[in-house]
Amino acid sequence: MNRYDVIVIGGGAAGLSGATALARSRRSVLVIDDATPRNAPADGVHNYLTRDGIPPSELTAIGRQEVIGYGGEVVTGTVTTARRDGDFTVGLADGTTYLGRRLLVTTGLADVLPDVPGLAERWGKDVLHCPYCHGWEVRDQAIGVLATSAMALHQVQMFRQLSDDVTLFLHTAPELTDEQWEELAARGIPVVEGKVEQLEVEDGRLIGVRLEGGKVIPRQALAVQTTLRARSDFLAELGVEATVLETNGVVIGTAVQVDGMGATQVPGVFAAGNVTDPKAQVMSSAAAGLMAGAGINFDLITEETRLAVAARSS
Ligand SMILES: Cc1cc2nc3c(=O)[nH]c(=O)nc-3n(C[C@H](O)[C@H](O)[C@H](O)COP(=O)(O)OP(=O)(O)OC[C@H]3O[C@@H](n4cnc5c(N)ncnc54)[C@H](O)[C@@H]3O)c2cc1C
Repeated sequence: MNRYDVIVIGGGAAGLSGATALARSRRSVLVIDDATPRNAPADGVHNYLTRDGIPPSELTAIGRQEVIGYGGEVVTGTVTTARRDGDFTVGLADGTTYLGRRLLVTTGLADVLPDVPGLAERWGKDVLHCPYCHGWEVRDQAIGVLATSAMALHQVQMFRQLSDDVTLFLHTAPELTDEQWEELAARGIPVVEGKVEQLEVEDGRLIGVRLEGGKVIPRQALAVQTTLRARSDFLAELGVEATVLETNGVVIGTAVQVDGMGATQVPGVFAAGNVTDPKAQVMSSAAAGLMAGAGINFDLITEETRLAVAARSS
């Protein structure tokens, strides 16, 4: 069985960045990736300096080549189990297993979408979540914000920065306070009460939002809040569990807790990117992967130095 200094689980921006740092530090590195990155439905990656608009698959293809160029290995597969008995043993869905001295978990998160007919099909196209990712692309358009949590109030003000024509659909949101009604009115944001029944799509484009009762409000883009679920179930046997995240009392999802160098509470297991921080963009995920790679390298150096001292004095 192949044994590596580090097994990186997940080959997006965080994983490839960490793997590059480790390979450049002459660590043997294996990246295992099942090629389902969070931003796969999007045409391009924005806010990544020098690579603006690059298709997500192209960015990771370049990243893979950089890892391989420094002697790292990349395989395609889905990790389903991870356990420790001295080394870590990582198991794939196809039955393959690999041994590693350390793990870097960079598996990202899954966006759980609001359950509205027609919405999932438009995700990453004209159904959006993040004004920094694709807000510029829908500037000046007729934008809706589908409220399923109090986070919609924050989101609607962000999209209002990008267009004069932004409507808030209250859908399943909690009651608004007088202050919130006042803020929306002051910023020229109409509010539509009642539940949204489905999205109206024509010629492969969103054209409107249908309310219960049949009324259709024309819209070209719709922003939604997703539940952000860490992709970390396979870590349970190691004792690494994602914890529930809240912002201003609103549950927004789950994430694996790490320190500033990406170390989890379980020795030898590091994590970075969206699996630890749902707010992380591609560039900040890459940066976190780099820091975790550095953290792992130093952890290994510490262990190797301790063993060398013990060997020298025995
Ligand atoms: C529609 C959309 C558009 C976006 N656009 C932008 C944008 O323009 N700019 C921006 O900065 N951010 C954007 N984002 C956010 C961006 O997707 C994340 O910040 C980024 O993907 C996080 O990088 P990551 O490496 O942590 O995770 P990911 O990129 O999600 O990579 C995780 C990798 O791990 C792999 N993986 C997961 N589980 C397993 C497993 N069990 N076994 C093996 N492999 C596994 C996946 O296949 C994937 O390749 C967008 C998000 C969405 C949803």
